[in-house]
Amino acid sequence: MNHFEYGPEGLACEGVPLARVAAQVGTPVYVYSRATLERHYTVFRAALELAGIVDPLIAYAVKANSNVAVLKVLGDLGAGADTVSEGEVRRALAAGIPGERIVFSGVGKKRGEIAFALQAGVAEINVESEPELNLIAAVAAELGVKAKVAFRVNPDVAAGGHAKIATGKSENKFGVSFAEAARLYANASNHAHLEPIGVACHIGSQITDLTPMRQAFSKMRGLVEQLLAEGLHVERLDLGGGLGVPYFNMPEPPSPAEFAAMVAEVTQGLPVKLAFEPGRVIAANAGVLVSEVIHVHERPEGKRFLVIDAAMNDLIRPAMYDAFHDIRPLVPRAKTEQGGETTYDVVGPICETGDTFTRDRALPSLAAGDRVAFMSAGAYGAAMASEYNTRPLVPEVLVDGDRFAVIRERPSYEDMLSRDVVPDWV
Ligand SMILES: *Cc1c(COP(=O)(O)O)cnc(C)c1O
Repeated sequence: MNHFEYGPEGLACEGVPLARVAAQVGTPVYVYSRATLERHYTVFRAALELAGIVDPLIAYAVKANSNVAVLKVLGDLGAGADTVSEGEVRRALAAGIPGERIVFSGVGKKRGEIAFALQAGVAEINVESEPELNLIAAVAAELGVKAKVAFRVNPDVAAGGHAKIATGKSENKFGVSFAEAARLYANASNHAHLEPIGVACHIGSQITDLTPMRQAFSKMRGLVEQLLAEGLHVERLDLGGGLGVPYFNMPEPPSPAEFAAMVAEVTQGLPVKLAFEPGRVIAANAGVLVSEVIHVHERPEGKRFLVIDAAMNDLIRPAMYDAFHDIRPLVPRAKTEQGGETTYDVVGPICETGDTFTRDRALPSLAAGDRVAFMSAGAYGAAMASEYNTRPLVPEVLVDGDRFAVIRERPSYEDMLSRDVVPDWV
């Protein structure tokens, strides 16, 4: 459930008509619903608790939507943060999420990033390879601390809605191999500056079938049992993120309750705490991207392009993952005025053929100046935006009931150009 519904002034986010946001902030603009973010987190947590999972660490995956205001909304509910760079650790801290609820993942953490995370006292650094383990040990020794590490294990299971977001096969770059995990864990346990506290996995994103997750989690359970049998200390099993969301026109994903029941069954009786790293399931349906129609361009050959002011640099999912976003007009025209639906290719202004959000989509008839919302754009939307084509980074707005605030401003052209430096020898 989310809080984007049609009201008397057209499509609204909670109590705020999106047209009002568009008029005040301009387009394109991302709009997030606080109530939806809170609801998704609360539903996820309640599902785990109902399934009997005691005191889980729910580390929201910052990369899905990394705005500090969004992080603060979730952090205030008790969420932790799953981070993949020093920048994300800093964002989590800036949102008031304490180090002990921060997980630091990622295959290529640099020396300085590791040092920063250790000084921030993160809950665990998820180790993705043996060379990385050695680097963490060296940095911890330099700082004179003991690094809490969890081994991210690659369970060699195929999952995920798209090849670009499958992470759990051994040919993917993520995690140590299942075969070497126990050896590395035992070695690390004997190191003066390492404190292995658990194991982790994350097999992909937008997963709509519990089977691969069950397979991976069962393997992880076996590994935890093996480590415990070897007398090693294991306190946490981190099961990653990846639960899919209901994108319009896509297979219905399992509910948080079904997911939690499966996890409870697979981890039954295992004497460790569980951690989760949900991203998309929290943020995706809590946000929309609002854009304005610039032109309707009809070719004599029959194609009809809806040229809008959002582009692939603002929302890259369709270009990168062939993702489908439902597109809704903010104010549906009266059926009588335009005679129902028209088929469009919806495109942005960028000089790339890939800057096409959808082809041959039947939409209510639209004209220049009309505004549309891309639904389910709260995750991997603004966070993946760029300034390609020197387009200002799209601003973000947070709605709370009948009020809203800009939580990231659109940069001015002066801001953008001032970052370039022309040396005096040019
Ligand atoms: C991306 C990522 C997540 C979140 O994935 P979702 O599909 O958004 O839930 C969790 N953990 C790690 C390590 C990730 O890289």
